[in-house]
Amino acid sequence: MIKENLETVLQNIKAACVRSGRNPEEVTLIAVSKTKPVSMIQEVYDAGIHVFGENKPQELKEKVPQLPADSSWHMIGHLQRNKVKYIIDKACMIHSLDSFRLADTIDEEAAKHGIIMPVLVEVNVAGEESKFGIAPDEAEEFIRKISHLPHIRVEGLMTIAPFTDNPEDNREYFRRLKKLCVDIKEKNIDNVNMCNLSMGMTGDYEVAIEEGATMVRVGTGIFGARDYTVKA
Ligand SMILES: *Cc1c(COP(=O)(O)O)cnc(C)c1O
Repeated sequence: MIKENLETVLQNIKAACVRSGRNPEEVTLIAVSKTKPVSMIQEVYDAGIHVFGENKPQELKEKVPQLPADSSWHMIGHLQRNKVKYIIDKACMIHSLDSFRLADTIDEEAAKHGIIMPVLVEVNVAGEESKFGIAPDEAEEFIRKISHLPHIRVEGLMTIAPFTDNPEDNREYFRRLKKLCVDIKEKNIDNVNMCNLSMGMTGDYEVAIEEGATMVRVGTGIFGARDYTVKA
């Protein structure tokens, strides 16, 4: 079933790219494997997708050594500062940077490993109270401040759009995030490379691609529904 799901998602990505005149190679599919067992992740790997997303540091840390070494892992969920050390040498990118203090901690931990960690700034583009993220009108100043940290590199923006049954409802949020990204890019801030837009999940990734997503985070659409009552 996973293989068929994956094929459907890849076809949908391609179709959304065709509709919007984009090259499918500009869009990275991140298979969101949270709560799912290693056996299922291996199936996705074997089907040709080697890029995974996890939202819990401990889970990411435990899964990484169990999958082939050429898998890459994105930290997509809210990150507490005391957990950064678990993932700093395992994640290829952190999508959920939402505070100065977290930026400092990532910078410190990355320095210990002699690496530069690519990060995306999470923006609460719909202004939902329940969501983490920087307010859109504070994003530029936030990025200017963290751009001086030598061991992180800002590579774009991420958002988690509102939950909705109608993906069209989120189009305006994706459009706003794209515009914000372009506006900040035009400022040419040193050490900032505004090229990535991580937006779109199972319910709305096609709309997100039409609006410029370079990374879509798809879990349910590949792995099926998650069962939070069973421990992965
Ligand atoms: C779980 C999760 C996803 C994937 O959600 P689906 O609706 O299952 O595709 C994407 N992004 C983040 C940050 C998540 O936590």
